[in-house]
Amino acid sequence: MESPVKRDIRRLKPEELEKFFAGHGEKPFRAKQVNEWLWKKSAKDFDQMTNLSLSTRDLLKEHFTMNPIRVDNMQRSEDGTIKNAVTLSDGLVVESVLIPTDDRITACVSSQVGCSLDCKFCATARLKRMRNLNADEIYDQVVAIRQQSELFFNRPLTNIVFMGMGEPLLNYTNVISAIDKITSKAGLNMASKRITLSTVGIAKMIIKMADDEVKFNLAVSLHTAINEKRSSIMPINDSNRLEELGEALKYWYKKTRREVTYEYVVWENVNDKIEDAQALVKFCKIIPSKVNLIEYNTFDDVEFRQASAKALAMYQRILEENGIVARIRRSRGKDIDAACGQLANKS
Ligand code: SAH
Repeated sequence: MESPVKRDIRRLKPEELEKFFAGHGEKPFRAKQVNEWLWKKSAKDFDQMTNLSLSTRDLLKEHFTMNPIRVDNMQRSEDGTIKNAVTLSDGLVVESVLIPTDDRITACVSSQVGCSLDCKFCATARLKRMRNLNADEIYDQVVAIRQQSELFFNRPLTNIVFMGMGEPLLNYTNVISAIDKITSKAGLNMASKRITLSTVGIAKMIIKMADDEVKFNLAVSLHTAINEKRSSIMPINDSNRLEELGEALKYWYKKTRREVTYEYVVWENVNDKIEDAQALVKFCKIIPSKVNLIEYNTFDDVEFRQASAKALAMYQRILEENGIVARIRRSRGKDIDAACGQLANKS
């Protein structure tokens, strides 16, 4: 029988593993070998660690477990997008998405099971938050998509976005630790500038990221630059006002010199008027930024509706007149509910 005190080996720090081996009379380089299996080679069990003796593998099995994710269900969209239902070791499920375009393959990964933020337009919000993902569970989503990228497209994974389920800045430690592994030579060796963290814009955490000198890109789900409206669709805005967000972004830019991307959906009768676009322009002037106008994806009985093409054109014109780059982002994977804001484990 397995002992309940066994720890997941991937939650140990490298020095803890070294200490473990030293305590069992093994050479310190064993820790390096094992770490290589755990991260760089993404081993799923101890028997894959073929350069360790059987007795060393047994020693590991005796003390530790490994809890890799399982991709139980993979759906492919007619546009090539792949959605994975990912089962975690405790049986909970999150979703991750592979998005292919001509020049890149992007992994969209989840950071929490469900979400606590209750944005009125988002399918994940209906799930409520169950728990944070561990760093290894985030890392494994990237590894799985990296393999699918090679297998189905014969191309390498190029980008990662934290735009799946959950709010990454409410699971900061694990997200940062996953990104450290993803970018490290001892892990996947991917470039930080190919990673984008998307957040509702939690001001104090944006300041923390700036202080921590993170090297990845920042995207903020803005959706409206008018406080009252934002509070009505994104309750986090009650305690995290646009003024405070703006100050945090100023600090971010001062420290990192990197522009921010605002994600923005235009909805009918919510934010489709000229004064909405003008408020956005004003907000965009706080620091260098660009805007992604995201197509809205409906689900269930949600009452939000994508605004007209005319409203979008109005936004683009006003942003352009003010020297702000705005791109319209079409949805991918809609036929399999893999598009932004549709992730909700229906599969
Ligand atoms: N919590 C993070 C990341 C997850 S959501 C964040 O809020 O940024 C990723 C993006 O999808 C966000 O910009 C979110 O506002 C947007 N989104 C949510 N529901 C959507 C929907 N139904 N259609 C289009 N975009 C949606």
